[in-house]
Amino acid sequence: MSIGAPRGADGRFRNTEPFEVRSLADVLRWQWQARHEQQVAAQQTPTQPPDLDFLARNHGGALAPAATWLGHASVLVQFGGVNLLTDPHCSHRASPFTFTGPQRAQPPALLPQDMPRIDLVLVSHNHYDHLDLATVQALARQAGGPPLFVVPLKLKSWFVRRGIDHVTELDWWQTERLCGVDVTLTPVRHWSSRALGDRMASLWGGFAVLAPDLHLYFGGDTGYSPTNFIDTRAHFADRQSAAAGGGFDLALLPIGAYEPRWFMSPQHVNPEESVRIHQDLGAKRSLGIHWGTFKLTNEPLDEPPRKLAEILRTAGLTADDFSVTAIGETLRLPPRTCTSTP
Ligand code: ZN
Ligand code: ZN
Repeated sequence: MSIGAPRGADGRFRNTEPFEVRSLADVLRWQWQARHEQQVAAQQTPTQPPDLDFLARNHGGALAPAATWLGHASVLVQFGGVNLLTDPHCSHRASPFTFTGPQRAQPPALLPQDMPRIDLVLVSHNHYDHLDLATVQALARQAGGPPLFVVPLKLKSWFVRRGIDHVTELDWWQTERLCGVDVTLTPVRHWSSRALGDRMASLWGGFAVLAPDLHLYFGGDTGYSPTNFIDTRAHFADRQSAAAGGGFDLALLPIGAYEPRWFMSPQHVNPEESVRIHQDLGAKRSLGIHWGTFKLTNEPLDEPPRKLAEILRTAGLTADDFSVTAIGETLRLPPRTCTSTP
C-alpha cells in the first residue's frame, strides 16, 4: 500500500471510498427525530476499581500484555516495553464547552495523576470525544516528562499551539519505530472537525502497533469499509503469518454510537459491522470500546453489548473472541508466541 491518504483539490483529506459528510439540514433532522427516539438505558455501564498495584508493576507488560478500558475510546495497553494510551479522555464532557454537550455517564477508571507513567499516546482524530485538551495537558505534565503523542497528519500543530511538541505525525500506511515498537497509521472511514471551517483539514485513522509480545490494532472511530480492514490485514500479512504468530492479538473496536443508521452508518459502525471488522482484520481477539460513556446518539447506552452478544451468537463466536469489559477492568493476554515451522 503506498503511503498517503487521498486529498481533494482543496487540500482536505478524503476517505478511500465515497463519503458524504452530513449537512446541517441532516443534523437538524436527526436532532428533531431524536426528541422522540431517544431511549434511556435500563442498566448502568458496569465499572470496577482498577487494579492499581498490577498496573504499576506491569509497566511495559512486565507481568503480561494487558488492556484496561478507562471508558469510551480510552484504553491503557501495557506490552512491549511501553505503557500506551488510546484517545485519552478524562473530562466531564465531550464538548468544546464546559456547560453543554454530552456528559459522562460514568467517571473514567483512572485520572492522569493516578496512571502509571505513560510512554505513548495514540490520538485517532480530533473529535471532542477522542481528543480532550485537559487530559492531554495533564499527561504532558506527568512526572518524568511528557509521553510521545502520535497523531494523524496535520494534527501536530494543535498540540504545538498548546506548548506540547513531543508529537509525531503519521500519514496512512506510514510506519515509525517509536519507543521500540512499530506504529503505523491505517485508513478508517471517518472524518475530522473541531471548529467551524476545519472539516477534514486534519487526518483521521486507526493504528497498528507491532511489538514482540503483542500486535495491537486500535480502530479509533469508523464506519464500515469494505476495503480498509482487509487492506490492513494484507499490509501486515508478512509479519503476521502463522509462523510469525498469526494476526492481531488484540483489536480495540468501536461498538457504540450508531443510531439512527441513516445518519450514523457512514461514520460509526454498529456491533454487527464491528464483528465484520474483527473478521476482516483476522484479529485473534477484540475488545469493544466507544460505548457506555458519552450519550452521543439515539440508542441507549447499554444496548451495544447486548446487540454484540446476539451477533456473536449468530456468527458462532464467543465473548472470548470479542469481549466487553467493565470500565476499569483489565484484560490480561497471553504473550504473543511464534510457532516454529517444521
Ligand atoms: Zn469521531
Ligand atoms: Zn467518537
